[in-house]
Amino acid sequence: MTVAPADLLVVNARIWSPGGTLAETALAAADGVITALGGDELRDQVTASTIIDARGGLVTPGFIDAHVHAIFGGVEKNRCDLSLCESLEEAEATIQRYASEHPEAPWILGGGWRMPWFPGGTPHRLDLDRLVPDRPAFLVNADHHGAWANTRALELAGITADTADPADGRIERDDDGTPSGTLHEGAAELLGDVMPETTIAELRQGLLDGEQYLFAHGIVGWQDAILGEYGGYPDITSVYAQLADEGALKAHVSGALWVSRGFDGLKIPEFVADLLRRRDEFARDGLTLDTAKIMVDGVAENATAALHDDYLPESAECACSRGTGLAYFSRDELIQLVPLLNEAGINVHFHAIGDRAVSYALDAVAAVPAEVRTARRNHLAHLQIVRPAELPRVAELGLTANMQMVWACLDDQMVSLTFDLIGEDRVAWQYPFGSLQRHGTTLACGSDWPVSTPDPWQAIHVGVTRQEPGGSRGPLLPHEALTLEQALTAYTHGSHDLLGLPGGTIAVGAVCDLAIADRDPFARPITEIADTKNVATVVRGEVVFRAGGGS
Ligand SMILES: [Zn+2]
Repeated sequence: MTVAPADLLVVNARIWSPGGTLAETALAAADGVITALGGDELRDQVTASTIIDARGGLVTPGFIDAHVHAIFGGVEKNRCDLSLCESLEEAEATIQRYASEHPEAPWILGGGWRMPWFPGGTPHRLDLDRLVPDRPAFLVNADHHGAWANTRALELAGITADTADPADGRIERDDDGTPSGTLHEGAAELLGDVMPETTIAELRQGLLDGEQYLFAHGIVGWQDAILGEYGGYPDITSVYAQLADEGALKAHVSGALWVSRGFDGLKIPEFVADLLRRRDEFARDGLTLDTAKIMVDGVAENATAALHDDYLPESAECACSRGTGLAYFSRDELIQLVPLLNEAGINVHFHAIGDRAVSYALDAVAAVPAEVRTARRNHLAHLQIVRPAELPRVAELGLTANMQMVWACLDDQMVSLTFDLIGEDRVAWQYPFGSLQRHGTTLACGSDWPVSTPDPWQAIHVGVTRQEPGGSRGPLLPHEALTLEQALTAYTHGSHDLLGLPGGTIAVGAVCDLAIADRDPFARPITEIADTKNVATVVRGEVVFRAGGGS
């Protein structure tokens, strides 16, 4: 018997690849590729420098996060980070502690607060003044579609009762018109000129820390969903390129080049030419830039998602309309833009939350000649409110659904804010992942971290049960649930494919990208999926994360 050298040997595993759990329980890898699958006999047939005993845990292809903000997430973890706070009390204590531990910081920056903590979802500047009285403070909402500023920050930016709402946002106001401290969507950009710039050093560290955090959750690659100036951040494309050149990036990374509102003042064909220039300048080995990101609308919970019909009025007595939300691009602009992008070899990644935004995106892709669009990987992220009549069009037009499954449940935000804004009929159209699957849509997954946890097992739990992990409420539209097999396939093979990455399967000859869990969720009730923890992550045969340290 010959003994083959290998870099990695994984034993005692339940090995899953799209299609089902394999009969084999061990695998070996050399030079980044899976070289053998077998049983216990592999221990004798292979000498490996690293051996992982999976202890009966599930080994899957590494997860790919098809919509994430890895740098923003990393930077925000290093600032005043409220994303893991469970309550307003905890968040307030965190803000106070951060401010006292950083007396030198000219501004208190950070974020991760949640709308359900505040009446109407809108925090007040006076509450932040109490916590940070001596300096300007600016904290973004967990969903990054709004911000909470204190009085000092508003003063510095010159935002007063006389300041008009920008076209792409809204200033929340007290009864007398004074800005109250919540800035929705583009209104948050009004502070851009007075806030300190995020430094390159901070962004670089953010990317390295973000990558490590994603590795800890079994994620081996991702698509960064905004490469361009956004939300007070500079364009981060060059940061990715720098780290790729230095060989510091181990993950498979694809970036979505940001399509700015108003096209930077250019005509649409000129804007597309400029986007291609950005791609050619920054794309390199380890950094694919063949995607453009179009944020079609806002979010439902602050009434900025673009709907076909009005949001519900504030109360039965008050007939005043909240309108139909914000579309950042007109349907006509998208119909001109998207075919030009696809013809230039650029895939389109749409942010589409409201039913009108979904229709605009579909109409724009329908304007692309069929032979051009079938060669591209266009995708619709979020897909919160989708008219049933539109469901078949997603697959017909060759679009992949890029799902953030963790949102598809009755969490506090959904129950305390969204329901009253959209009403019963549209509640029943939310996150129709099961229907999309039945219509033949290709499914992929992303987390939108730092908006939500990047942990795929939390998202898969919701995708399969339609219930919040640890929550007490029943399921949201249980007929839209996916099976564990479908959800796992979407988060691995589906996302790999969407990003044009090799891998996404476990087979001899495949790239050795693995996520190793502490248990086999197929052997347990679906209500326990969220208890699953990633314990090791492998990228191209290299162990990049192991629980408890070491690798
Ligand atoms: Zn996002």
